[in-house]
Amino acid sequence: MATKVAITPEKLYECEVKRRRVRAGGGYEPFWKVKTVADAILDGDTEFRCKECHGPLKLHKRHTPGAVSHVEHKLKSDSEHCPVGARFHAAADGRATRLSGTPVA
Ligand SMILES: [Zn+2]
Repeated sequence: MATKVAITPEKLYECEVKRRRVRAGGGYEPFWKVKTVADAILDGDTEFRCKECHGPLKLHKRHTPGAVSHVEHKLKSDSEHCPVGARFHAAADGRATRLSGTPVA
């Protein structure tokens, strides 16, 4: 009988958020900045991605005192191959990490 491997729910507290900065030649250019999820919510950031694999994230906002907001990979396949992915850490097959197949640009 196949046994199911229990995966700890993924909770990441750091992410990258998209910001804009003044470009040397004029105008603005987007760039990604590493932040804690709590700071990103306070700052009103709306575009997130994983700081390791650049994959899309699902945001879990917490409003209860003591509970900390966090993110998790939106895609199972990212979590399976990301260095900070819960599924990657649960895998015991010595797989290699890789960037998301659908990176947020
Ligand atoms: Zn990732």
